[in-house]
Amino acid sequence: KLHREDKQFAVIGLGRFGRGVCSSLHHLGHEVLGTDINEKLVTQVLTDQIAAHAIQLDSTDPKALKEAGIFEFDTVIIAIGNYLQESIITTLNIKEAGVQYVVAKASSEVHGKLLERVGADRVVYPEYEAGCALARSLTQPSILDRFELDPNHSIVEISVPEEFNGKTVMELQLRNRYGLNLLAVGQDDQFEINPAPTTRLFKGFAMVVIGSNRDIERLPI
Ligand code: ADP
Repeated sequence: KLHREDKQFAVIGLGRFGRGVCSSLHHLGHEVLGTDINEKLVTQVLTDQIAAHAIQLDSTDPKALKEAGIFEFDTVIIAIGNYLQESIITTLNIKEAGVQYVVAKASSEVHGKLLERVGADRVVYPEYEAGCALARSLTQPSILDRFELDPNHSIVEISVPEEFNGKTVMELQLRNRYGLNLLAVGQDDQFEINPAPTTRLFKGFAMVVIGSNRDIERLPI
């Protein structure tokens, strides 16, 4: 199996979502191929330098996909949200050709179900997910970042609450009082992983904890 760093990505559909995926992967140093049926968008991503390679093709045509080498990629992202038929046919083509990991963007619940039926390994609902994240950031501004492990457990990065200011890790007793484990404490982009019991926390620092969402909500943030 390929090492994560060496993974190659193909993005089909260079709309707002597809371009965002390309640009982030590219800037993280990964090899990305972008494709779209619209020649203008293909030229644009090359001019904007948000993908190393880009080609124009109709992804509903298996021959075109094969010729472009799309079936050789480890991960293919299907970023065609607003064209239901094209999105389903493309996903089917790519899974049938044996691509290992296919992520597809859905624009509705029915669309998502269809994508799963034709073999998508992961379905994303960017507008819905962005809406949920916005709501969380508005209501819990001290949660800086959140990684959901399952519907009940998360890893969250929060700013150190007022109540914890000046206390050591030992004094906080996060495990006893909240059932949470402290993974890291950070200050200006520098994180101490598995902080020592004597590490002192201050307002303005960040802390990363893991635990159940119920316990996380009990934190004085
Ligand atoms: P967003 O909402 O992210 O802006 P859209 O779903 O509106 O994305 O756009 C999807 C992109 O997919 C468009 O740029 C469109 O040209 C492209 N696209 C649509 N059908 C095909 C196809 N058959 N082959 C390749 N690209 C396609």
